[in-house]
Amino acid sequence: MSLNKSMHPRNRYKDKPPDFAYLASKYPEFQEHVHTNLSGRAVVNFKEPEAVRALTCTLLKEDFGLSIEIPLERLIPTVPLRLNYIHWVEDLVDGQKQRRRGIDIGTGASCIYPLLGATMNSWFFLATEVDDICFDYATRNVKQNHLSDLVKVVKVPQKTLLMDALKEETEIVYDFCMCNPPFFANQLEANGVNSRNARRPPPSSVNTGGVTEIMAEGGELEFVKRIIHDSLQLKKRLRWYSCMLGKKCSLTPLKEELRKQGVPKVTHTEFCQGRTMRWALAWSFYDDVIVPSPPSKKRKLDRARKPLSFTLPHVAVKELQAKARALGCTSRHPLKAITTLVEKTLTDLRVLHKRVPCREHEQSLLLTAVENTWLHGRQKRREQMRQLRELPRADHNAAAAATTMPSLTQDTQVDADQKSANPEVTAESPSVEGRKVTDIADEVDQELPEQVADVETKPRCDPAGTCGQKDASEMPSKQPASPLSVERFLFKCLLNVLHEESDAVIEIHWVEGQNKDLMNQLCTFLRNTLLKAVSKS
Ligand code: SAH
Repeated sequence: MSLNKSMHPRNRYKDKPPDFAYLASKYPEFQEHVHTNLSGRAVVNFKEPEAVRALTCTLLKEDFGLSIEIPLERLIPTVPLRLNYIHWVEDLVDGQKQRRRGIDIGTGASCIYPLLGATMNSWFFLATEVDDICFDYATRNVKQNHLSDLVKVVKVPQKTLLMDALKEETEIVYDFCMCNPPFFANQLEANGVNSRNARRPPPSSVNTGGVTEIMAEGGELEFVKRIIHDSLQLKKRLRWYSCMLGKKCSLTPLKEELRKQGVPKVTHTEFCQGRTMRWALAWSFYDDVIVPSPPSKKRKLDRARKPLSFTLPHVAVKELQAKARALGCTSRHPLKAITTLVEKTLTDLRVLHKRVPCREHEQSLLLTAVENTWLHGRQKRREQMRQLRELPRADHNAAAAATTMPSLTQDTQVDADQKSANPEVTAESPSVEGRKVTDIADEVDQELPEQVADVETKPRCDPAGTCGQKDASEMPSKQPASPLSVERFLFKCLLNVLHEESDAVIEIHWVEGQNKDLMNQLCTFLRNTLLKAVSKS
């Protein structure tokens, strides 16, 4: 699946996302959380923390032979993204080849990094934790996996990071430290106010994190700055210092801080699957370390160019042909029949469309969306909320108003980025994400939006429902003749209908416009409409 191309090349889930159906057949406790979606695929509802936890525990058991326990009220780690960070640390310390010694700052109840690092690479770990519950679970998880020789969990006071943890061991040089820092600066940020770009869809997810897990004074920025300051004293006691970041905007000020302090070696990377993004920063005071290059811009461009797509399985294609015939489509060609149905939906939605020349055995439509007629009322409110979140932080009134909106207070969350590794979770499992600031991975068909379940398949013609893009007065009263002739539009895209063996695939390529999330929504709407038409018959 395309999203996995951006995983670390050694990540075992890169070309082989978890097979939910197989795992469900093998692990009864996981089976309880697996459902079958409209296309007959096994899916997991990532809104349920129990389901996320079951998946994490199942993957750790199946793929690493690890048995862990995690309380629902603490952060639930997700395996594929945690693996990305481990592999990047391997790159930093050349750690696949030799035993390495590392520190995990804030190991969590799962103790996931030390357990993975010790199991995969026989690394030694000093794992620190401030929270009593996390400390107890982490200690137990190490013991029950017989890894006490490699992993030592220590309880530390809140104010300390590296310095106190190392004060008893004055001699040992550590190869690295890693850290998934507490994330939010305060409750507002934890609730999503000011934390996201207004153009991105909000995660609808569950928050199982305890206070010290998800909130630190000053958020991740201050937390990492404190690690930087400890590192300025410890210098060569560690070969590499590293931190994961949940917000891209943390990267620049932290790199600037390192530059100001004259730290000689600095690098960063990004971990991404679908729309789940994390960043990581590493620095070293050694001259002889290998410095992995940051991700190239080309990869980013490639990602931006990648179309959205979804598959209509063979059985669905047959039924859609029958539907098209009922609508008067005389062609026996399945792709033409599907195109007729797509055209009908677009007409109902008042999305302008026109057939355009294309390759043999394909159908192509150029679409111009002038108004948003596909968005559910609840989603529209969320869009408005998102705009509120853009207000400057100092504006307390607005922020307070935002927190009283029901859609926000309902938005709780869990860290469930293993969703990122599975291409089949998105449509039925709107989202789970431990770190509010980032988007949720939508791996099915790469970038379908997370609120699929909320997108109604009945067109709505509420002119005010424009995601705040335009006034009602700006809306066209009737459809212009050609998608090429309109001057004001939300976006343009190219929709291709093609064969993939006996299935049909719909690909939607971005052409231009205001915001790709709107195209994501339309893509989901089309997919739901076509699949619903099949499930009803
Ligand atoms: N590493 C785990 C947990 C990350 S959440 C994972 O990736 O899933 C951050 C953790 O840091 C929480 O468990 C929190 O209790 C802990 N923490 C917060 N402040 C800390 C500090 N000063 N020192 C050590 N741990 C801390």
